[in-house]
Amino acid sequence: MARVVFENVRKEYEDVKRGSFTAVAGSSFVIEDKEFVVFVGPSGCGKTTSLRMIAGLEQQTSGDILIGDRVVNQLHPKDRDIAMVFQDYALYPHMTVRENLSFGLKNLKKSKAEIEEKVKSASSILGLDEMLERKPRELSGGQRQRVAVGRAIVRDPQVFLFDEPLSNLDAKLRIQMRVELAELHKRLGATIVYVTHDQVEAMTLGERIVVMNHGVIQQIAPPTELYNNPSNMFVAGFIGSPAMNFIDAQIQGDKAIVEGAAFTLPERMARSMKAYEGRSVILGIRPEHIFGEDFALHVSPEHKLSATVQVVEHLGSENLVYFRVGERMVTAKVHPETNASIGQLKTFIIDLSKAHFFNPDTEVRII
Ligand code: ATP
Repeated sequence: MARVVFENVRKEYEDVKRGSFTAVAGSSFVIEDKEFVVFVGPSGCGKTTSLRMIAGLEQQTSGDILIGDRVVNQLHPKDRDIAMVFQDYALYPHMTVRENLSFGLKNLKKSKAEIEEKVKSASSILGLDEMLERKPRELSGGQRQRVAVGRAIVRDPQVFLFDEPLSNLDAKLRIQMRVELAELHKRLGATIVYVTHDQVEAMTLGERIVVMNHGVIQQIAPPTELYNNPSNMFVAGFIGSPAMNFIDAQIQGDKAIVEGAAFTLPERMARSMKAYEGRSVILGIRPEHIFGEDFALHVSPEHKLSATVQVVEHLGSENLVYFRVGERMVTAKVHPETNASIGQLKTFIIDLSKAHFFNPDTEVRII
C-alpha cells in the first residue's frame, strides 16, 4: 500500500527579508494507493514545497507525513522508497542513457543482472531501446525527459514524485508527453504525485487535483468536479480557460439584477439565493456558457444581455468576444461564425443553468 498522507503539515521558512514565512499552512489529505494526484496553483503557492516534504528534501515545521503505513517524518529521502523526476531532468551529461539509468541502482549495490533487467524493462516501456548508448546531448528534449522518467522507473519506488517535468518542452511535445505519462501511470499502477502550475496539465493528468493558493489547499477533487462545482472564486477562476467571468449582481426576489439585465433564476437557484435577498453577490459564468444570440440554438433564450463588443479574437475553432458589464470585462467563447465586430451592440444569451453565485465577502460559492 503506497498511500501518501499529510496530517496538518505546516512549513515555515525563515527568510531574512520576510522573517518567518508560511509556505504551507497546515495541509491534510490522503493520496490513495495507485492514485495520480496533481498539485496545481500559481507560482509560490507551496506546491513544490509540499512535494519536497514528501520526498524528505524539506523538513516540515510541524505535522506528520506518512508513506504507505509508515510515518516518515524522520526518514532520510533515500529510505522513503520514492523517486522524483525534476523539471530540469538532472541527467548526468557525461554518461550514456544506459549509464544514467543504471547509476542509481549501482549505488544501491544491485547485481549486474538485476540492473540489466530493470534498464531493459524501463527502456522498452519508454521507447528508449535505440538510444541506450547515446549521451543526453544527443537526445531531443522529449527523449531526455523519458530518460529522467526511466531513472525513476528502474528504482521501482512506491511513489513517483514529478516536479513540473514538462515545463522545458515545447507545446506540441508537452501534449505528447502528457499522453505518455497518463499511459505510463496505467501501466505501472503506481502512486504518482505531480506538481504543475498549468491547469490544463492538471485537468488532463490528475485523477484528483489539489488546488493551492498562498500555502492553503483550496479544494481537492476530480477534474470535472472542480470545473462544475468549484468551492470558491479562486478555484473557479483558476480552473478553466479562458477563466470564468465574474459579474456583480444583486438578488431581488427571484431575480439576479446585473447591469443592463434582470435574470429570472431557475427555481432551484432562486431557493438557494433566498438568504441573499437584497444583497450583492457575484455571478460566475464560464465563457463557454455565453452564446451569441445568432448561435444559441440549444439554450433557452430567456436570459439575454446586450453589450457593446470591445474585442474579437478569432481562434479558428471558436471566437473569443469581449464586452463589458459594469466595471468588469466579460469573455464569451462563441461559435466561429457568430456575427460580432468591435463597437457592435450585440445580444448575448447566458445559460443560467450553468451559472454560479459567490459570496463577495468570503468568495465562497453559494450555488
Ligand atoms: P513555483 O511554481 O514558482 O515553483 P510553488 O508553488 O512550487 O511555486 P514553492 O516553491 O513551494 O512554490 O514556494 C512557496 C513559497 O515559499 C514561496 O513564496 C517561496 O518564495 C517560499 N520558499 C520556497 N523555498 C524557500 C526557502 N528555501 N527559503 C525561503 N522561502 C522559500
